[in-house]
Amino acid sequence: MRLIRQAMMVAAVLALTACVAPGVPTADLLIRGGTVYTGSDAPFTGDVAIRGDKIYTVGRNAASRAKRIIDASGMIVAPGFIDPHTHMADDLRSDDARTRLVPAFLMQGVTTAFIGNDGGGDPDVAAVLSSAATSPVGINYAAFVGFGAIRKAVVGEANRAPTPGEVKRMEAMVVSAMCDGALGLSAGLFYAPESFAETEEIVALATKAAASGGIYDTHIRDESSYTIGLAAAVDEAIAIGREAGLPVNISHIKALGVDVHGQAPLIIARIEAARRSGQRITADQYPWSASGTKLAAALVPLWAQDGGRGALLRRLDDAALAGRLRSGMAENLRKRGGAQALLITQGAFKGLTLAELAKSRGEDPISAAMAVIRVQDPAVASFNQSEPDITAFMRQPWVMTSSDASSGHPRVYGSFARKYAKYVVAERVITLRNFSERSSTLAADTFGLAGRGRLTPGAFADIVVFDPKRFAARATYDQPTLLAAGVRHVLVNGVLAVDDGALTGRAAGRALAHTPTPGSCR
Ligand SMILES: [Zn+2]
Repeated sequence: MRLIRQAMMVAAVLALTACVAPGVPTADLLIRGGTVYTGSDAPFTGDVAIRGDKIYTVGRNAASRAKRIIDASGMIVAPGFIDPHTHMADDLRSDDARTRLVPAFLMQGVTTAFIGNDGGGDPDVAAVLSSAATSPVGINYAAFVGFGAIRKAVVGEANRAPTPGEVKRMEAMVVSAMCDGALGLSAGLFYAPESFAETEEIVALATKAAASGGIYDTHIRDESSYTIGLAAAVDEAIAIGREAGLPVNISHIKALGVDVHGQAPLIIARIEAARRSGQRITADQYPWSASGTKLAAALVPLWAQDGGRGALLRRLDDAALAGRLRSGMAENLRKRGGAQALLITQGAFKGLTLAELAKSRGEDPISAAMAVIRVQDPAVASFNQSEPDITAFMRQPWVMTSSDASSGHPRVYGSFARKYAKYVVAERVITLRNFSERSSTLAADTFGLAGRGRLTPGAFADIVVFDPKRFAARATYDQPTLLAAGVRHVLVNGVLAVDDGALTGRAAGRALAHTPTPGSCR
């Protein structure tokens, strides 16, 4: 059967190439007759020809001899999506070759993703970027060095300021990571121990990233009303960019929790003001009303997390702290919308809301959460954003699409597909052109990915071909690992990673090292 099909394909290819005028250079692949979104221009019906790993021609009737022709009539042809915020580092270094293909992303047309976000990026960026050479990966990736990883390595998990010597060591780690090709410095200031750092400490390290042309990518200190509040946390990120002299990207921008719902216009105004003053401020966003985090991070007050999980477990058993701990957790639960708005997505209680779990145990939600945290700290989906805030952020030309992919949340398998189906097609919040450019071009430009994010001659052939009638997420909170529908073909560096809607198994991704500013690394 397979042989017959191959023979038929060869015959078809011969028939197609035979009728093109001689003398025209042969392309390896011609994507013909699709609606082409280039990343720069208005869409048109036309062709994209590929030779090797690059785009050779783009245009109307760009007739060319080709070894293979894909009929893309009725399809959208666009730059492969670029996901600037993921947590797929482990997948890319997995021993399992199929895991390294990251099918959840390829099947949505994602051809490049960033790792090391939220302050978690491995400081050994050279090792991170070299692993693809020996363990091939399905998509391109670039890496941040993480403030959290650096602070843990140098200062530990305690709530204290670093000594001047420790600051020097942390700075040296940033410099070395930048010189090894990091995109910039990522931070997750909401999380302990990064939450213990004062603004000046981060400015010192971000200044080192700035010297090499890096960017500051931040999960801000407070997306809600936990500590300094959402607006002040955005101001802090902007101030870090201004003082350190580098662009800032605000990770997964949102107004988290009932206390800050409706604040999107206020936050947008602050960012717009900074942009007008000449700062480069952008943001990324995942298109879901639930965030994904851990149960303890969602509920336990920061003071009780000081010192790591061991210290937290001791405090859970400390009768003298019980009242303060319970009231802090109850307040955090209120901010997040109550026990029915927290869905456990991992471990023994997967699929239950905290309200359901508490009821089944005959306990109040806080006691139930404490009991679960004692045994493990499961991932949770926290339904804490309002649709008006989500769409207000999404309409901004400086907000790109991201997934914040972490296991247990459907955003791993469905973010780009959902944004298209829900916010482009069903609700018409943004146009298809906006969606295409903010899901690829904007990230390539913001983070300086040379030759990516546009369909233009000479660019790398990272391309998605999808069916505009079918492209949609199938993953849900109940079934978060269903592959997206509607992607027909995906090229990564000119190689078909998805063909006729199925993975080919070819791992054509590359590690994308950022080129440091000349002279910044000696
Ligand atoms: Zn984050």
